[in-house]
Amino acid sequence: MRYLEEFSDPELADRLFADIRATVTRPWALMEVCGGQTHSIIRHGIDQLLPDGVELIHGPGCPVCVTPLETIDKALEIAARPDVIFCSFGDMLRVPGSGKDLFTVKSEGADVRVVYSPLDALGIARQHPDRQVVFFGVGFETTAPPNAMTVYQARTLGIENFSLLVSHVRVPPAIDAIMNSPVCRVQAFLAAGHVCTVMGLDEYPELAARHRVPIVVTGFEPLDILEGIRRTVRQLEAGEHRVENAYPRAVRQDGSPAAKAMLSDVFEVTDRTWRGIGTIPASGWRLSAKYRAYDAEHRFAVTDIRTEEPAECRSGEVLQGLIKPNECEAFGTRCTPRNPLGATMVSSEGACAAYFLYRRLAEPGPATARGTTGTATGTAGSATGAANERAEEVTSVG
Ligand code: SF4
Repeated sequence: MRYLEEFSDPELADRLFADIRATVTRPWALMEVCGGQTHSIIRHGIDQLLPDGVELIHGPGCPVCVTPLETIDKALEIAARPDVIFCSFGDMLRVPGSGKDLFTVKSEGADVRVVYSPLDALGIARQHPDRQVVFFGVGFETTAPPNAMTVYQARTLGIENFSLLVSHVRVPPAIDAIMNSPVCRVQAFLAAGHVCTVMGLDEYPELAARHRVPIVVTGFEPLDILEGIRRTVRQLEAGEHRVENAYPRAVRQDGSPAAKAMLSDVFEVTDRTWRGIGTIPASGWRLSAKYRAYDAEHRFAVTDIRTEEPAECRSGEVLQGLIKPNECEAFGTRCTPRNPLGATMVSSEGACAAYFLYRRLAEPGPATARGTTGTATGTAGSATGAANERAEEVTSVG
């Protein structure tokens, strides 16, 4: 299949690994920003085949994972109202809020529907003018344009029973926050290719220069990731810190001007809280004043909901690359995809889910030393069992 098999060619992969091995002379810590890249890395064992000392740190680029707990609680409250049809991509339904998730609210009688596009939700609003239809608008720069376009269409068509519960986040401020952290170990970034397909490259040179950190825009297939790593370690070894585009088949310097124009019309930049991490200035979008009437938070008066993260879940440390998922005491035992404590175990892009799904249960590491891994393997049965759990998901935000 084009763009799958040709970007998984083992001979080309060998050559890239050889080039990386020949380049590296000392340890380096690279962060892959996107959860989709994390899944590809873990699934193909790329991290295990790199030279000793080259570490891949899993970044916060999973939209489901970083959606704040209080936003999930707002979704639960809105969805439970009898006059509401609450629409979402499938992977948000099992994300735990303070007490329950959207699946539970649905089982209690709420009209919660999985859709494949925000435009499906707008279509439902047109079919049910007597009901309020809310779409859960979650995600990075990748999912924001279609959500913006849907609100634009709702306003243009005069569909007033549609609204958006917005939790959009932006990558560059997150990179800035990671680099400003006193515990930061990241020395280079594999930036998220699909984000740059929309936004282009213009936001990154200033970050690379100010933090003296290489940023290589990278795709998602195995060869894409190896090429991103190869270019990154070459820069690190040469003492350089530039922005490079290793995903030119999808990313142009200026991204998608049409998508960016739609974003700047419908949204405005705002501070945003990232689940497990905290508030990052200017790291999100909210509806602009022109479209504020379509903001579900205001329409349903849920702006005041405030909640605390469960203490046991260490997803904030996972999302900042401070621990690996199997270093969390609950991993694979009290926390599994079927009974998740945190969003990183639910999402199709979550690092905890990747470790559970792709064989990292029985691996040596801190969790093994405590005997957790053996229990986890016994609990899950196998990666196939985990995959079956994951097959219950229907649609995804990322
Ligand atoms: S394994 Fe579960 S409890 Fe631990 S950090 Fe991941 S999601 Fe949270």
